[in-house]
Amino acid sequence: MEIFGSIIGVAVFAAIIALIIYFLRKTGRPSHRATRRGKRIIRIGEPHSAEQAGEQGERTVRWYIGDTVEGRQYVLNDYIVAKGQFSSQIDHIVINPRGVFVIETKNYTGYVFGSDAQKQWTHVTNYGKEKVPFYSPVKQNETHVKKIRQIAGNVPVRSLVVFVQNNTENIRSSCVIPLYDLHNALNTGDDVLSADKMREIYDKLVRARSDLTDEEHTLRVLRNNESIRNGICPACGGRLVQRHGKYGDFYGCSNYPKCKFKRNIDNK
Ligand SMILES: [Zn+2]
Repeated sequence: MEIFGSIIGVAVFAAIIALIIYFLRKTGRPSHRATRRGKRIIRIGEPHSAEQAGEQGERTVRWYIGDTVEGRQYVLNDYIVAKGQFSSQIDHIVINPRGVFVIETKNYTGYVFGSDAQKQWTHVTNYGKEKVPFYSPVKQNETHVKKIRQIAGNVPVRSLVVFVQNNTENIRSSCVIPLYDLHNALNTGDDVLSADKMREIYDKLVRARSDLTDEEHTLRVLRNNESIRNGICPACGGRLVQRHGKYGDFYGCSNYPKCKFKRNIDNK
């Protein structure tokens, strides 16, 4: 009787354990599947993954460009310039005998449509299902070139926008190149800078470089954009008003001409 009782006891215990394991696995499986599905969605549109793609693209271009070789080429990666509350980040600057190259890297997959004249470009992903407008990287890099000209002085500065995935077939622009053309773009043309001049420009750029970290720069951009969304001038705290200009609508500061802040409305 006693043995029989303990056999039942063991059997019941084993059955309970089996049930617990069964339910744990059953509840465990769908949630695991859900996170995997979630990740797949994140890979398409989440800023986090776009950021990772950006970093990967920059690493690739950095590898293509190579390092500074005294007297032959000078390289600055992840170059930040700051003025007041504003800062901009330039992916790469190359100074070689052919000139100063200001390089913006894009690591989009899928199709990209745009031209020099358009402010808004289109990124088509997910087999044509998603069309995402974005600010022209040519215009974006023009701003960077302007900043470098201010620092470097009267020297030849060229803008290059490199598409790491080589998907430039739908882009009409003289400064957009696929990655496989980068070496050519940096090495064709006449020599216009002497070794001394290259070194001089490099030293100027190094002196003007901001000591802001990537994170501090990103924080500033986010803070300024937030301020603009709230109709507040990020430069002086004044009110922003919509104005019509020669090149389209823009937000200007109500404290103009004392404050000269302005931002294109379709500039993200
Ligand atoms: Zn202002």
